[in-house]
Amino acid sequence: MSPKTSILIDPRFQEHDPGRGHPERPDRIAVLEDLLLSWQGPPLDRIEPRLATPDEIQTAHSEDLFERIRQTDGIDHSSIDADTATSARSFEIALLAAGGLIETVDAVADGAADNAFAFVRPPGHHATDMQSMGFCLFNNVAVAAKHLRARGFERVAIVDFDLHHGNGTEAIFYDDPNVLYASLHQYPYYPGTGAAGDLGRDAGTGFTVNVPLSAGVGDAGYLLAFDQVLCPILRQFEPNFLLVSAGFDCHHRDPLGGMQVTEPGVVGMADRLLAVAREVCEGRLAAVLEGGYDLSAIRTSAEAMLIEMATAPARADVAPEHVDTEALEPLKEILRPHWKL
Ligand SMILES: [Zn+2]
Repeated sequence: MSPKTSILIDPRFQEHDPGRGHPERPDRIAVLEDLLLSWQGPPLDRIEPRLATPDEIQTAHSEDLFERIRQTDGIDHSSIDADTATSARSFEIALLAAGGLIETVDAVADGAADNAFAFVRPPGHHATDMQSMGFCLFNNVAVAAKHLRARGFERVAIVDFDLHHGNGTEAIFYDDPNVLYASLHQYPYYPGTGAAGDLGRDAGTGFTVNVPLSAGVGDAGYLLAFDQVLCPILRQFEPNFLLVSAGFDCHHRDPLGGMQVTEPGVVGMADRLLAVAREVCEGRLAAVLEGGYDLSAIRTSAEAMLIEMATAPARADVAPEHVDTEALEPLKEILRPHWKL
């Protein structure tokens, strides 16, 4: 039987405007609205977003950060850092993005959907507890993970395949053994974090898993990391809910990135995550859009991933490509004190 897949999208996500020429632009949502209007794939249910409350935001962020973004409300343009800015509506739209993801995980947690994808902006994974940065205002996936923990989900895993390391998500859960954060990312690259040896702190040691990848890695290299590192760790961690920070800037056409992932690679990653979710948490998986700056690549990647989420289990075929199957040995050695690899 095919899973029941839900989506969340809203035209208001186009109202956050970091300024002319900025790559994280409103059209990123417009192109997904267009995909869904002409959707020919399996049926998708809709989830309606709501604003996150200040208390919900402050489960992941300081009151200072919240106030700083609130003070931009109604102001045409405020600069947060060198590449992060707000427009008059950004504060409310950032609340709508975080609240939208809360509604999305609730739909899956309540069984209204088997899995779901929230197409929101602004993205979130660079926002730390103290600092909005890297196009991100509030950390949507961190707020959702905190929400799930508060709802009684004992262990939550976040897998982040955005091109960039999610330094914000890592920092928020760095000492937390109940929220596993696992990231594959171009390295070294913005924001500079995500080294293989960064494993967490105190009780959280081992529950941060970084897979730094050199520029140029493609589908086979990404899937090797899933098969040799991420999936075995997820099976051992046995999350009660799987969150996915889906950034399509790992796509080969992305203007900011140097990776070579194609649509079959996205399908391969989705397949593996869906398989783990079926094995360990009754299929409960919610994905959220992070980065991705080539409009056609966002559209085709999201389409491929949604079809995979909404159809019966299948394993995607990825064209053979030269890949050194021993390449991850040094990383596995670093992780072995914590996980059987
Ligand atoms: Zn990114």
